[in-house]
Amino acid sequence: MKAEQIIINTGAEAVIPPIEGITDNPFVYTSTSIMELTTLPRHLVIVGGGYIGLEFSSMFASFGSQVTVLEGYSELILREDRDIAASVQETLEKKGVAFRLNAKVQSVKYVDQKAIVTFGDSLTNEVFELEADAVLLATGRRPNTEGLNLKVAGVDVDARGAIIVDEYLKTTNPDIRAVGDVKGGLQFTYISLDDYRIVREDLFGKKEKKMTDRNPVSYSVFIDPPLSRIGINEEEARKQNLDVVIKKLPVMAIPRAKTLGETDGLLKAVIDKESGMILGVTLFAPDSSEVINEVAIAMKTGQDYTFLRDFIFTHPSMSEALNDLFT
Ligand SMILES: Cc1cc2nc3c(=O)[nH]c(=O)nc-3n(C[C@H](O)[C@H](O)[C@H](O)COP(=O)(O)OP(=O)(O)OC[C@H]3O[C@@H](n4cnc5c(N)ncnc54)[C@H](O)[C@@H]3O)c2cc1C
Repeated sequence: MKAEQIIINTGAEAVIPPIEGITDNPFVYTSTSIMELTTLPRHLVIVGGGYIGLEFSSMFASFGSQVTVLEGYSELILREDRDIAASVQETLEKKGVAFRLNAKVQSVKYVDQKAIVTFGDSLTNEVFELEADAVLLATGRRPNTEGLNLKVAGVDVDARGAIIVDEYLKTTNPDIRAVGDVKGGLQFTYISLDDYRIVREDLFGKKEKKMTDRNPVSYSVFIDPPLSRIGINEEEARKQNLDVVIKKLPVMAIPRAKTLGETDGLLKAVIDKESGMILGVTLFAPDSSEVINEVAIAMKTGQDYTFLRDFIFTHPSMSEALNDLFT
């Protein structure tokens, strides 16, 4: 088939790590296949404590499974501030999720209708075994480019296999574009949707929309409560030597959280000291996946922090916590 314009939109696929015994093992799942489980695992072991691993840990712990997360690094969700990560870990532990850090999984054996997961502690070199009814591999995702024969089409990929695009999503072959997860970067449904708008404008509109226009972009991790973020966090601000003011608010202090009976979590804001502009906000709180969009609108429309500090929100709502966060 021939076409004047080609758009590659093949998404990403789960990375299957080189762990002995996982191939054709009926107890081993990816984030796609675990959705088809029809019985609740008594004990679910999750390999990988990234965002997807944490979402499944929260979900299955809420369903009533015993959940153990095995994470190879010494800390969880390194992209977030350490106080936020600590609050996330503590909250999930309260739900019964067990975390083993520095845990390098070596094998998953299929013995007597159970899975035996063997992992080593990379600090002590001790080796441990866990029995599980299901093992979820949550060890990352990579762009789905295999079998597309991109080299022949003059389409280059980067070291991680993501298709290289310019700000109008054109690949190294200008008649071929790439949208969504396959081009790497932020992997979210709404980014894939916004990529479509860029291509639409470039092909049929005024060519005014480009990738660099959309920053900052928010994201939510659907644990309970959800973790949502936009812009930079405190650690990134410090690394960039920015002169900032950090504001924090424990969820415990929010009236709506009290009425909901969900008082775990923490809110944080990073504000530029001189201009008062909001540089970033992290919300680990009930309804944060909604409230973060209000912060995004304030940031995108160029409001300084006093806009949210003084905004009249309904009461009791999670949004009104922004008044106190920015005070
Ligand atoms: C567990 C999990 C939870 C997630 N949660 C969220 C969330 O809460 N919010 C959010 O915004 N995002 C979430 N995401 C990310 C979101 O799913 C992706 O960013 C989004 O689906 C990417 O869209 P896409 O259009 O790039 O590709 P996809 O939606 O992946 O679509 C690509 C399609 O191309 C097909 N395909 C692949 N290769 C070929 C080929 N050679 N020929 C023909 N067809 C092919 C695939 O089968 C697939 O149907 C989550 C992802 C995972 C794995």
